[in-house]
Amino acid sequence: EQYLSHRVQSMQESQTMRITGLAKKMKAEGKDIVSLSAGEPDFPTPDFVSEAAIQAIREGFTRYTPNSGIPELKEAVIGKLKRDNKLEYRPEEIIISTGGKQTLINTMFALCDEGDEVIIPAPYWVSFPEMARLAGATPVTVATTIDTGFKMTPDQLEAVVTPKTKILVLNSPSNPSGAVYSEQEVKALMKVLEGRDIFVISDEMYDRIVYGGVEPYSPARIPEMRDRVIVSNGVSKTYSMTGWRIGYLAGPQWIIKACDKIQSQTTSNPNSIAQKAAVAALNGDQQVVEDRRLEFEKRRDFMYKALNEIPGVSAALPDGAFYIFPSVQGVLGREFGGRVLSNSTDVAEYLLVEHHVATVPGDAFGAPENLRLSYAASIAELEEAVRRIRQAFS
Ligand code: PLP
Repeated sequence: EQYLSHRVQSMQESQTMRITGLAKKMKAEGKDIVSLSAGEPDFPTPDFVSEAAIQAIREGFTRYTPNSGIPELKEAVIGKLKRDNKLEYRPEEIIISTGGKQTLINTMFALCDEGDEVIIPAPYWVSFPEMARLAGATPVTVATTIDTGFKMTPDQLEAVVTPKTKILVLNSPSNPSGAVYSEQEVKALMKVLEGRDIFVISDEMYDRIVYGGVEPYSPARIPEMRDRVIVSNGVSKTYSMTGWRIGYLAGPQWIIKACDKIQSQTTSNPNSIAQKAAVAALNGDQQVVEDRRLEFEKRRDFMYKALNEIPGVSAALPDGAFYIFPSVQGVLGREFGGRVLSNSTDVAEYLLVEHHVATVPGDAFGAPENLRLSYAASIAELEEAVRRIRQAFS
């Protein structure tokens, strides 16, 4: 093991793995586990999307495609960015990759040198800091609190910018907090970066899963920032296509070209059949997206109300994504069934082992007093989970 590269040694093992591994084991043993740990919609891929893939196979569309993706899919992405995000891009400014994950690591590899700093507001999606490390950079995390709705303020950003800062990662709507930055908030953050050689990775993976009339605002909409912002998105969450592995990136042509180069020497084109499916998803009737969004909204409202009724638990109302990120500070330090719960990992383990509810501890997201609960589950399952959690803390 000591022969492993320094880069890999510096990466952290996913802290969520232990709990999810344990949950899987308990399920396999036949235990009745209610799982709120999923990072993917519980809905199936829409039929019209799967049909497009089946047709692609029948037509023999099963060979290498252009490395950066098929022109038809780039056009579909351009159409989507215009329709949903009011962004204008040319095909040379788009690359299709194997999931949102590949777009992000390609960008980090393209921009980061050893010693560069990548600013990541916490709570953050678990992969951001590890990707920065893998690319040789140093993640600089900035803790945010429930008082600002888990959003980084301009003052906080100003305080951590150094001459070594290369990238700011913004993820709105956020996994895990569900926070969505408003137009004013995005503009205020971008103002801090004015005149500085700092790039923004805007991870907009959950842009269509937003509630209560809230609209996310892409920093790429600010004309002065357009040549500094890389928009990352994909079909995984919006269209329940997590297994198809299609993500896309929109940004300055020279960065896209670099990602194309990296991709050409590592994975080559993303899956040909999945690209055809993604075309169907992006160009097809978007009613299915709206129907599912409405269903998520009902679940969000239920979870927000139900969790806040449990003593010791307090949750902010998430504006997007399908997670709720309550603080469990009120139960920390207390003893339940002979266990003292000192942090959110203890809480998650206690809920799983004693009450058979799987959640993800906030430690993994840089927020040790919180738990991430996914509401990509039926209302019946959510009701049962809440009942068990209430009992666990009584
Ligand atoms: N970005 C965020 C914020 C995510 O939550 C996820 C998935 O969990 C991804 C990117 C990666 O998406 P994909 O499955 O397309 O690689």
